[in-house]
Amino acid sequence: MIPTGEITGTSEPNKTATRTNTPTQLQVLGKTKDGRDLKVRRIWPLPFVCFADRGFDEGVAGHISPINAPAFAIHSEIHKARPEVNATCHIHSVAGKAFSCFGRELEMITQDALRFYKSHGVYRDFKGVVLDQDEGQRIVAALGQGKAVILQNHGLLMVGESVDEATFWFISLDKTCQTQLLADAAAAAGYKKIVIDEQEAAYAAMRIGGPEKGWLAFQPYYAEQVAETRGEFLQ
Ligand SMILES: [Zn+2]
Repeated sequence: MIPTGEITGTSEPNKTATRTNTPTQLQVLGKTKDGRDLKVRRIWPLPFVCFADRGFDEGVAGHISPINAPAFAIHSEIHKARPEVNATCHIHSVAGKAFSCFGRELEMITQDALRFYKSHGVYRDFKGVVLDQDEGQRIVAALGQGKAVILQNHGLLMVGESVDEATFWFISLDKTCQTQLLADAAAAAGYKKIVIDEQEAAYAAMRIGGPEKGWLAFQPYYAEQVAETRGEFLQ
């Protein structure tokens, strides 16, 4: 089953983005400020197969389609604000949705959470399905210069310089949300959480949170899918 969500990658990929072999479809979503076509390269088979294998699938919910209003409203604004971003990934995963209902940032309580240290925001202004450019702009404001946004009462949105990077950030963020929920549940029983020191968090984030690390971390998933499907998705 196809997961609820969407993955897009923009045209004009940089050096990092060209390393993915994921099949693509190009579509023009509109114009950039300087009058160029705003093209989006939709890439579905591999990341979605990968997500479905990990239990992130849940219906179709209209989020995957060649032209789709929420995708246009959000992704066109991201591209305007963050020209280095070549891929976005938006998914309604169970852990992402559950954590999103609190409208709070993640705590830096594990090494893996540090991938998102000062690199994620929360968009709290839920107004149903995103359809207008204004809301797209507000989501981009919550994203800032980070790699992810927790969309309150909705799900997760990640960006990357490549599809591989954005896809791995999703896998990692979903697990980080799940970890936070488990830790919070245990804390409610009286256990005290220990948060990683700022100085250590900043240093580790620098080492594990870069675009190249996200790309690298996705490669085993890619290899796994090639092996399992004998490369069928590349046809
Ligand atoms: Zn959504």
